[in-house]
Amino acid sequence: MKVLAINAGSSSLKFQMYEMPEEKVLISGLFERIGINNSGYTLKVNGEKIKKEVVLNNHEDAVEYLIKELLENNIVASLDEIEALGHRVVHGGDKYADSVVITDEVLQDVEKFYPLAPLHNPANVLGIKAFQKSVPNAVVVGVFDTAFHQTMEERDFLYGVPYEWYTDYKVRKYGFHGTSHKFLANRMMEILNKKDAKIITCHLGNGGSISAVKNGKCIDTSMGFTPNAGIIMGTRSGDIDVTIIPYIMSQTGKTLDEVIDDLNKKSGFLGICGISSDSRDVEDGMKDNNLRCILTHKMFVKSVVNYIASYYVALGGADAICFSAGIGENSVTVRKDIIEALNALGIKIDEASNNTRGKEALITSEESAVPCYIIPTDEELMIARDAFNLAK
Ligand code: AMP
Repeated sequence: MKVLAINAGSSSLKFQMYEMPEEKVLISGLFERIGINNSGYTLKVNGEKIKKEVVLNNHEDAVEYLIKELLENNIVASLDEIEALGHRVVHGGDKYADSVVITDEVLQDVEKFYPLAPLHNPANVLGIKAFQKSVPNAVVVGVFDTAFHQTMEERDFLYGVPYEWYTDYKVRKYGFHGTSHKFLANRMMEILNKKDAKIITCHLGNGGSISAVKNGKCIDTSMGFTPNAGIIMGTRSGDIDVTIIPYIMSQTGKTLDEVIDDLNKKSGFLGICGISSDSRDVEDGMKDNNLRCILTHKMFVKSVVNYIASYYVALGGADAICFSAGIGENSVTVRKDIIEALNALGIKIDEASNNTRGKEALITSEESAVPCYIIPTDEELMIARDAFNLAK
């Protein structure tokens, strides 16, 4: 069965087509700057990379080019061959604990959750609607970023605020990156050959989050009501004392929206080091003895270590810790400093294995009390698997 996994952003559309159940990638690509000047797309097909500049006024234009490429590259002879579409949907509220076939009712729910994910859900809906006309016969599946975290208990997902904020306004911790955490936990359970394993999954990319997983179920996660909670990220602050917000408004004259924008787009690595949100630039700065870059790295490592340590306690120990996403898969320095800071838990790095980048690897020594792994995440594959299973 041919299955298309789609991740639509407000001005981008990322896709990957699979032959299932073999999980073979047939073609993948990214449409960028949709609705903006200089739009275009890149494709990866038959080991070749193709880049084209085309006018993309909206998501429908992107879907049209995508279909044209599928036909021209003989990925499909007709659109009927695409039997399932899996869409990433960021927010499923507290209603969706698993992927579902998207019906009119589900689509209305996703729209209802707009206030909870004002940047992401509208973009996801644009993506869903763009395919409706062109590929009307496929089973359409929604895979929610929040779903995996729905197993958290009230004690772990509530904030210490008036209970009515939860009952009346749905204020609670939702958690994000769930598709990635689920992939990582499943892969770790496979490697350990243990279904009741206690696992700490660290998704460290431009956005980052950490989850505690027991028996394949999430018991806690670092992101919260929005993705701007938990660890320090590329441009997001992570956890702060909320009273900073009115204080900065009064001191600078900034509006609430401007301060929230600062916390989402000008904080984190970028805010602390003042140079870049990219961890490679922070690492380059560290080599040049840039003190703000050194500070950024130290603060990031501390924020990750704090979550790992607290989840270690919450889980009653850990069978494994894994690192994933851009930084987790590639940064030798970040992993080394996190693991060294976890020394009190008897965790010991294997420096040679830790030199691995972008590949699955065990990076702790035999004496380590908890094994740590690099596990490259694959959210598109998870989306394709769920779409395939629901379409089958
Ligand atoms: P993601 O959001 O998963 O695409 O991750 C993006 C982050 O990964 C950025 O901060 C990148 O700087 C970081 N990253 C990618 N490659 C490397 C690398 N080789 N070393 C350090 N960080 C990297």
